[in-house]
Amino acid sequence: MRFAIVTLFILFALSMNDFSQTPEDLATIWDKQHISNKFPSDVRHSDLKNYLEQLKKLGLKVEEVGRSGGNREIYQVEFGRGPLKVFMWSQMHGDEPTATSALMDMFAFLQKNREHAWVKKIEESLTIRAVPMLNPDGAELYQRRNLQGIDINRDARALQTPEGQLLKKLRDDWIPAIGFNLHNQQSLTTVGNSKNQATISPLVVYGDAAKTPSEGLSRNERVAAAIVEALQKFIPNNIARYDDGFAPTAFGDNFTAWGTPVILIETGALVGKDEMYLVRLNFVAFLTALRVLADGSEKTQDPRAYLSLKENGSGGVYHIVFRGGNIVIPEEKQPYRSDIAINIDRRRASFPAPNIIREIGDLAAVAGLEEYSAGDFIVVPRYGSIKVGDAAEFLFYKKDRQIDFTVKELEKQFPPDAIFSTGKWIKGEGLVPKR
Ligand SMILES: [Zn+2]
Repeated sequence: MRFAIVTLFILFALSMNDFSQTPEDLATIWDKQHISNKFPSDVRHSDLKNYLEQLKKLGLKVEEVGRSGGNREIYQVEFGRGPLKVFMWSQMHGDEPTATSALMDMFAFLQKNREHAWVKKIEESLTIRAVPMLNPDGAELYQRRNLQGIDINRDARALQTPEGQLLKKLRDDWIPAIGFNLHNQQSLTTVGNSKNQATISPLVVYGDAAKTPSEGLSRNERVAAAIVEALQKFIPNNIARYDDGFAPTAFGDNFTAWGTPVILIETGALVGKDEMYLVRLNFVAFLTALRVLADGSEKTQDPRAYLSLKENGSGGVYHIVFRGGNIVIPEEKQPYRSDIAINIDRRRASFPAPNIIREIGDLAAVAGLEEYSAGDFIVVPRYGSIKVGDAAEFLFYKKDRQIDFTVKELEKQFPPDAIFSTGKWIKGEGLVPKR
């Protein structure tokens, strides 16, 4: 008898523990259980199909719900049998892939862990439907727009794209109680005017310019606050609120107007972290949202963590800044001191990303995610010139060296001390000091 009581107590304690998933627990779960196995930007439609096959084998409902303009299948995944309808869609912009992988990991986790009390609660309280890749043609080309060249997220009213028509139909046929609109934002988006990247920027999307309140929107503010509090465990200085302007032709705004209040989640970047880290953050965000919706704890959630977020900022940060180098252009007479700011264009992870000079001159007012003090060096363009729009290809010579910069084949005749090329030091790494 005593043994039975002890066993019952242990089981009770375990089940209580089961309910209190901390954000750290969720991140550890992702570390152990995620099925996504390549950088999201490298995931093609065929890779998505592979993920979906795995979900089907686990027993999840995966349906083709439509076709893109290029006749690629558009899928919807479903989990749960509860009364609260949750709809999520990702990659309506083809080059915004982070949440697609996170959704795959989320569904795999939910399906495999239904014996856990808190997952069972999600299964019994919610029905979750998600379209993980609404714009497979854009995803294949790694471009924002669909094959018509239309931004699907500006087609909510005109409905001239097959993908936009499908999205509207999926909503209208089902009338979900809450929507999650999942995107990526520029990697140089900042938290307000700070130099910190906005790695995650949620927004509770109002359905009109007047920002008419509703219980659904208040609920979304509480859910967004729960997401923010969870993510603050990992990125306390890198969460902002997405710009709150009403976009009359966008899907998020119209979903809210049609009766499905939307939370937008924009994923940016974080210096020193790769795309999988962002998938992990998305996973934590989604499961936090589902949990607080399922167990009702959103009702007592304080919305201030969301409401007090700084807004997204831009323009103050570059990927790399070289400070104070003496620029010598062999054909030009006078050397001059200048800072150089470089940005890295967005590409698939497996593609080389162009490093382009975006600003020169006195850049004291801006910051680089990575900065170098080039004051003790002469900086010479490896090819051509050092102007805005040029590729960032530089030779670095210590100032005290005697060099004839006018010679042909300068790099061969006077080997530089350091070379910065294709976004990295290919010679003399560490010589030009990091700031
Ligand atoms: Zn987008």
